[in-house]
Amino acid sequence: MVDIAFIGLGAMGSGMAANLAKAGHHVRAYDLMPAAVQAAVAAGCEAATSVAQAVREADFVVTMLPTGTHVLDVYQNGDGVLAHARPDAVFMDCSTISVEDARSVGDVARARGFLMCDAPVSGGVAAAAAGTLTFMVGGSDAEFERVQPILQAMGKAVIHAGRSGAGQAAKICNNMLLAITMIGTCEAFVLAERLGLDAKAFYDIASQSSGQSWSMTSYAPVPGLVPQAPSNRDFTNGFASALMLKDLRLALEATHNVGMTAALALKSEEIYSEYLVKYLPSRDFSGVIDMLRNQ
Ligand code: NAD
Repeated sequence: MVDIAFIGLGAMGSGMAANLAKAGHHVRAYDLMPAAVQAAVAAGCEAATSVAQAVREADFVVTMLPTGTHVLDVYQNGDGVLAHARPDAVFMDCSTISVEDARSVGDVARARGFLMCDAPVSGGVAAAAAGTLTFMVGGSDAEFERVQPILQAMGKAVIHAGRSGAGQAAKICNNMLLAITMIGTCEAFVLAERLGLDAKAFYDIASQSSGQSWSMTSYAPVPGLVPQAPSNRDFTNGFASALMLKDLRLALEATHNVGMTAALALKSEEIYSEYLVKYLPSRDFSGVIDMLRNQ
């Protein structure tokens, strides 16, 4: 059993912290939202009232926050992780943030003598709750060895992507692809509908043909086809379209930095931006099918 501080108990962090507690670790949980802390206590964690209190005695610190701005703030502000953690503490940031922000906060932590990995996840809310996330980890071999057992308690796969920032690089490439395949999947379902094809018949065929993808078989945008898909619950409690757009913009920023043009990613950014104007930012990204259906 180790002492773990968990900061950021939202849609993803709540399930992840619960799984660390279930694995027998002592988890001190903190979030700005008191209700989120209370839910973590009900799941076996101890409540913390500040970042400083959460991290003070921790062997490991896990952060699962919305954006790079939140991550830089939680680590670097005067009341933050770096100011209050034990000198031998090891950090893993599981949020999705830019490669630059990940390297920047990692460099500052290492300059102060800490070990730190970027360890973003793939798998969504259901996988966070079930402990079946995939972690893509950026850091040295020594850093990876230290964080691996902790991440294993929350996931089915923990993969060393490369040096600091490489986890985030893998994550934004993956999500750029996901953003594109979901729009393609939605367009195919809308065309199938307009051609008079039954959605289930189309699903049964495409899911076993060359149109198959995760967007189709794990996250079908039409209800009644895939049990856990947000389409079955009116696109609530899934991967918020605002977060998908954030990831897509991180990917586009990276394409710009390396002098590359990604035409489908650019078009996808346009489509999700319009979706966010027309629907709630918390609505799952696969709900973009409703907008495409009405065009
Ligand atoms: P979320 O908004 O549900 O949760 C974030 C939590 O962080 C909130 O509870 C918020 O109150 C808390 N928070 C913000 N600032 C804080 C601070 N200063 N101190 C303490 N707590 C603070 O977001 P989420 O869906 O859990 O996503 C978290 C990260 O994981 C994001 O970077 C997202 O892109 C990534 N991600 C999400 C999914 C998904 O399906 N939701 C999948 C993979 C990756």
